[in-house]
Amino acid sequence: MRAMVLETPGQPLREAELPEPEPGPGQVLLEVRACAVCRTDLHIVDGELTSPRLPLVLGHQIVGVVGDGRRLGVPWLGWTDGECRYCRSGRENLCDRALFTGYQLDGGYAEMVVVDERYCFQLPDGYGDAEAAPLLCAGLIGYRSLRMAGDAERLGLYGFGSSAHIIVQVARHQGRRVFAFTRPGDTEGQQFARELGAEWAGGSDERPPDELDAAIIFAPVGALVPAALSALAKGGTVVCAGIHMSDIPAFPYELLWEERMVRSVANLTRADGEEFLSLAQQVPVRIELETLPLEQANEALDRLRSGRIRGSAVLVP
Ligand SMILES: [Zn+2]
Ligand SMILES: [Zn+2]
Repeated sequence: MRAMVLETPGQPLREAELPEPEPGPGQVLLEVRACAVCRTDLHIVDGELTSPRLPLVLGHQIVGVVGDGRRLGVPWLGWTDGECRYCRSGRENLCDRALFTGYQLDGGYAEMVVVDERYCFQLPDGYGDAEAAPLLCAGLIGYRSLRMAGDAERLGLYGFGSSAHIIVQVARHQGRRVFAFTRPGDTEGQQFARELGAEWAGGSDERPPDELDAAIIFAPVGALVPAALSALAKGGTVVCAGIHMSDIPAFPYELLWEERMVRSVANLTRADGEEFLSLAQQVPVRIELETLPLEQANEALDRLRSGRIRGSAVLVP
């Protein structure tokens, strides 16, 4: 099968012909129909996440089809032990021995993938293969982050990429007011955010017209943490949604005072996925995407890095 393989972090992926993977116990073989690109993929390629299996097939937002015709969605959480203190307390996202798709397990930048079916999702009807793919991480982790924002009415989204373009729609559906922050000067991104329901959009160096009850930071930029804190109302929360961020600069305690909070979101549980996928269909969330052929995975990653993707990038074998 054809695959795009990471051999050495810091180097582009290499197009390769690999043997068709063999399903082990509890696994199924999927023919990949679409695999969305995530910023986490970029962190792995750049060596910012330090324990990938190598060589590695990236990709953890996979829509694939089993031999009997069933369509499944494959997320980042690929396996857990089911027995550690986190698994036993409903927090399998924090499992001590978790294995992640496209990181410790080969992922979907390929024509075929083997997966543990217990961690796959049924996908909502009404979404094509490419449309469904970004729901599996951008949507799902974005949704977990939105839940951690509590019942915040005035919500800030820092970084308006694949996740934010989904979450703005869910937040609006829930009756929240959304303020979107892009790279300074990205007027196209700001226009896109307003089209999807943000009542205000501006650069991350700007102040929103109202205080925020919560902010979700999708961009991997630590300096946004104090920036978002300074835009919060009393008791507000900053949620860091990404798996990696540049260092957070020192900031005065005053920014945290009055019960403001900073927290991160790690991974997902299967319960998150079921809840989000059914909500996505109710909203209904509309996915804006660009598809690229599998061979152009490096191009897709480059464009994601420089912010040149409107919505989500999806690879199609
Ligand atoms: Zn566990
Ligand atoms: Zn992801």
